[in-house]
Amino acid sequence: MNITIVGSGYVGLVTGACLAELNHSVTCVDNDARKLEQLKRGEIPFFEPGLDDLVTRNVANGRLQFCSRISLAMPRSEVVFIAVGTPADSSGDADLSYVYGVAQEIGQSMSRPLLVVNKSTVPVGTAEAVRYIIESELATRQVEIRFDVASNPEFLKEGNAIQDFMHPDRVVIGAGCQTSQDILKKVYAPLGENLHTLHTVDIRDAEMIKYAANTMLATKISLMNEIAVMCDELDVDVEMVKQGIATDSRIGPSFINPGCGYGGSCFPKDVRAMRAMARESGVSGKIFEAVHARNLEQQHVLADRIVNFYGEELAHKTIAVWGLSFKPGTDDIREAPAITIINRLLDAGATLRVYDPKAIDNARAAIDSKQVFFCHSAAEAVKEADALLVTTEWEEFKAPDIGALGTSLADQVIFDGRNLFDPTRLESLGIAYCGIGRRNRLFTLVSGRTNGAWSSSALTTEMAQGRPIDNIPVLEEYRPRANHRF
Ligand code: NAD
Repeated sequence: MNITIVGSGYVGLVTGACLAELNHSVTCVDNDARKLEQLKRGEIPFFEPGLDDLVTRNVANGRLQFCSRISLAMPRSEVVFIAVGTPADSSGDADLSYVYGVAQEIGQSMSRPLLVVNKSTVPVGTAEAVRYIIESELATRQVEIRFDVASNPEFLKEGNAIQDFMHPDRVVIGAGCQTSQDILKKVYAPLGENLHTLHTVDIRDAEMIKYAANTMLATKISLMNEIAVMCDELDVDVEMVKQGIATDSRIGPSFINPGCGYGGSCFPKDVRAMRAMARESGVSGKIFEAVHARNLEQQHVLADRIVNFYGEELAHKTIAVWGLSFKPGTDDIREAPAITIINRLLDAGATLRVYDPKAIDNARAAIDSKQVFFCHSAAEAVKEADALLVTTEWEEFKAPDIGALGTSLADQVIFDGRNLFDPTRLESLGIAYCGIGRRNRLFTLVSGRTNGAWSSSALTTEMAQGRPIDNIPVLEEYRPRANHRF
């Protein structure tokens, strides 16, 4: 089939390259001149494992091409996918101006029967608006051309996007007539046995399915984050709680990792859009509100602890930061918790040595501060640092050389925003540890003694002398500590 994809970002480019791999003839359109030039030079504008090879191969075999204008791509196409951004506007609604702009361009230039497919994540009712815009443009041109609008939301995950597209959990087709349904089935037919679940539903159902999926996942994360914060207050290890609930088949092990909040270009904006949609449809949307609020708070949990821990001394401290992307496997820093935490620490006067395996260039463009040093490796970041903060769970951070870490970090302290490390092991090596819901008893002890100001020297001296932590008499003073805050 001849297919046009409008928008060559994370979703559009992956979709285009995968559909070309499936033997379709695909034109990817983007109106960002810089991005398009990169693509034409054979460069991928963002990091996504395997995408490089897929694009190169399909450009070489002639099944994938790029162009700047919808009108140039359209004459050849039977299907046009809209895959442009739908960011949150200032009130939290999905900003549909890019989608509507594309609809307008399609209406202005279409010259043959066409199926227009929304792949962007859009609120319920958007397909009807897109149809109206195209009809209006055709009426202005005084031409009659048959077209239909369908919905085919995308569920790929950055970092695993090609695998997700080629081996989907499911494909959702929202179409108002059999012909459109059949066209979309034909698009995905080459997936063969990999396409084991195909949901054919009404258009509005399809639009809601995407938001339901993302808000469900975001809710799981926020719920677990709230439980983790309670665990810190109640002297409970959330990792034990996690293991204890993950084996419940009704809950499962996914999306229950506590941490410093979710980010990215989807969950934050989709929860806000769902909240707005609820409000507009007369539903209170209390759960979406709470999920969003917990996530905003969660991004400050660790920053608060660092600020409280060091007090005014933070202005004289250097913190190593491991991880900038919103999750591992991508260079995407959109709404990344790391950036929020970094800005908070910069406001408090800290100096930062940051490292990420893939997102350094994007971070350099987003963080404008002379107090931030961009490092080439995790080891370089901790050199000359006082403490380490982990904000993204990249594989390479999971098994560090703890001995070397202990030697590098002047204050021998790790703030772990993704619960990667074993507190007991670190503590046994004399490294103080603060995770999310990990009991964090050293920090309670230290800050309990000093009313929140930095004073770990007494503690580290005792530890250096090999005294087990439980023998430090003052510890008992601070248990139970349900009201204690870092
Ligand atoms: P993106 O910002 O990476 O890409 C969007 C692209 O569209 C940009 O390159 C932009 O230049 C281009 N564009 C905008 N207007 C255009 C126009 N008029 N003509 C041509 N090109 C135009 O966005 P994304 O992350 O790929 O997300 C796209 C949509 O897919 C969003 O609705 C998002 O919610 C949804 N989605 C994203 C993901 C993800 O992991 N990123 C996953 C599933 C769904």
